[in-house]
Amino acid sequence: MIGITILGSTGSIGVSTLDVISRHADKYKVVALTANRNLERMVQQCKRWQPAYAVMADADSAEQLRVQLKSSAAQVNVLSGQDGLQQVAGLAETAYVMAAIVGAAGLLPTLAAAKAGKRVLLANKEALVLSGRIFMDAIHDSGAELLPIDSEHNAIFQCMPGNVADGLAGAGVERILLTASGGPFRTRSLKELEQVTPEQACAHPNWVMGRKISVDSASMMNKGLELIEACWLFNTTPEYIQVVLHPQSVIHSLVEYADGSVLAQLGNPDMRTPIAHGLAWPKRIQSGVAPLDLFDIARLDFEMPDLERFPCLRLAGEAMQKGGTATAILNAANEIAVEEFLAGRLRFTDIAKIVELALTNIPVVEASSLENVLAADRHTRDYAMTTVQELTA
Ligand code: NAD
Ligand code: MG
Repeated sequence: MIGITILGSTGSIGVSTLDVISRHADKYKVVALTANRNLERMVQQCKRWQPAYAVMADADSAEQLRVQLKSSAAQVNVLSGQDGLQQVAGLAETAYVMAAIVGAAGLLPTLAAAKAGKRVLLANKEALVLSGRIFMDAIHDSGAELLPIDSEHNAIFQCMPGNVADGLAGAGVERILLTASGGPFRTRSLKELEQVTPEQACAHPNWVMGRKISVDSASMMNKGLELIEACWLFNTTPEYIQVVLHPQSVIHSLVEYADGSVLAQLGNPDMRTPIAHGLAWPKRIQSGVAPLDLFDIARLDFEMPDLERFPCLRLAGEAMQKGGTATAILNAANEIAVEEFLAGRLRFTDIAKIVELALTNIPVVEASSLENVLAADRHTRDYAMTTVQELTA
């Protein structure tokens, strides 16, 4: 049996992971589950999965979880806070860690899994955006395995040759083609984008996801974060990555080779495919995803992205080129702006404005230490909050 910790088990990726595991109870054992404050779902999950540990990041929620589990048969050790999250990421009983906390909050627990030499199933793209070098070094130094779960990166991984440690060119790779659905606002004009609501932004045409990543998909910041994620995962730079709009979300990304071959990975848009791939790699297991019906799909479309209407994609590329803490600044400003948009206090088009102001005005330093990265993250959050207040005053 392979022991698994699921960081962010109550979220969209966490729930899909448990769904795949439920189909393979003979192979995988849930050792630890974690959430922020979704008590109701965590109580259900603890009763169903009987993990040895459950962590609530929020201390009050942890206390309530203890009370609610007292009367149940589940023997669960309840922990709380960042310490608890990091502890269950490194447990001896755990071989695989699904990193599916949303946002910068996932960085330290994901890094703890990397340092502990686990198989890290990486959904939390923010860990690489904040501290790509530190994270990749931790993976290499500990001998951990890194399996990308983000559907595009999982597709690229599947289409890549075995060893790209010496760079992509040495392996005959010319380019990575990173696909994007274009989100719910792909055809909206800039004028229309000023008026869109959080509900419209969260209604993704092809994928069901948490609210933060849904807004990022609508602004195309998600593709920007994924561009940065791909650079770190595949040891490359933005010039070697072309973003391709593909509204059907059937091709999850492609790799172009020197001889003209282009390899693609296709499938229905359902995160259980990359999750099952990461769990079983290098084998294959059932995921519960319906087979792809090409006759039903009938056609596949491709377009160039429009950086005028979707400036977040441009800003992410620029931040990656700049290097250092620029991508941490991009991420933190975006997290604050998205929260404010979801709370109805900021217009959709102001998200990119906040990010651009942060990138213009906050000094970039080397991202050589975790302290530098976390300081940039904190400073940017303060800056972004002040800027939101000025913009909306
Ligand atoms: P979600 O909002 O549905 O779930 C987030 C999880 O993280 C929940 O369990 C929540 O309790 C926990 N969490 C939130 N804040 C926390 C905090 N401060 N401390 C500790 N735990 C906290 O998000 P999601 O859609 O499942 O996405 C999770 C991650 O996976 C994100 O980084 C996202 O970019 C990435 N991802 C998601 C999808 C998808 O289809 N949902 C696809 C690719 C990548
Ligand atoms: Mg993705």
